Amino acid sequence: MAKNNSVSNNIVVAVDGYSSCGKSTLAKDLAKKMQYAYIDSGAMYRAVALYCIQNRIDVNNEIEVAKTLSATKISFQYNEPANRNETYLNGKNVEEAIRSLEIAGAASTISKYKEVRKFLVQQQQLFGKEKGIVMDGRDIGTVVFPHAELKLFITADMEVRIERRYKELVQKGIITTKEEVAENLRERDYTDINRKESPLRKADDAKEIDNSFLSQEEQLNLAYFFAQEAIKRTA
Ligand code: C5P
Repeated sequence: MAKNNSVSNNIVVAVDGYSSCGKSTLAKDLAKKMQYAYIDSGAMYRAVALYCIQNRIDVNNEIEVAKTLSATKISFQYNEPANRNETYLNGKNVEEAIRSLEIAGAASTISKYKEVRKFLVQQQQLFGKEKGIVMDGRDIGTVVFPHAELKLFITADMEVRIERRYKELVQKGIITTKEEVAENLRERDYTDINRKESPLRKADDAKEIDNSFLSQEEQLNLAYFFAQEAIKRTA
């Protein structure tokens, strides 16, 4: 995991937003540019969902899902050749396995459960203890790091999001259709916004970036500018 050891300018950057709106791309790019650690909190919900599916636990059964939590050990390891952080579940690399639409749907279901959120939020907060971290998700600026020095809320038009996610899945060799992707995104948005536990919402002090018509580099430059401002404010 890339880390910044110069304590003086270490801040926490919380990146939230809807599914497939470019949060992870931005969070990864920003972490790299700032030499910060990057944590994909969604991967942790996906890993719990994968564990349930692999062990035939009904993801709709909140009590059964809660019982499995103590059996899931989630960690991240930097893969140098691939230049990315990869997700491990009980010591096994699950980075590819957690990226399917099936797991995305199951992650969205189990992320509604209070015990699941409590379990994962605690771990996420530990990752941020030393600061120098960019974390992306749905509740990072509102629940995980309510005092983050910089909070970003990312949005993009639905059509743009569908197109991006479709291309990404096809590139990974996953067979799907734009309709299936659209349905998955709409359902996940609905669940994220309407759940009782930590629903997705923009933190009052978050800066919103609509990246529908921004290039990856333009989006990064904007976020980096905000980060430099936040560092100056905290210096
Ligand atoms: O970000 P990603 O799409 O990988 O997240 C998978 C699912 O996990 C989301 O659909 C969302 O419901 C849930 N999630 C969450 N809180 C987070 C990150 C992800 O509820 N901080």
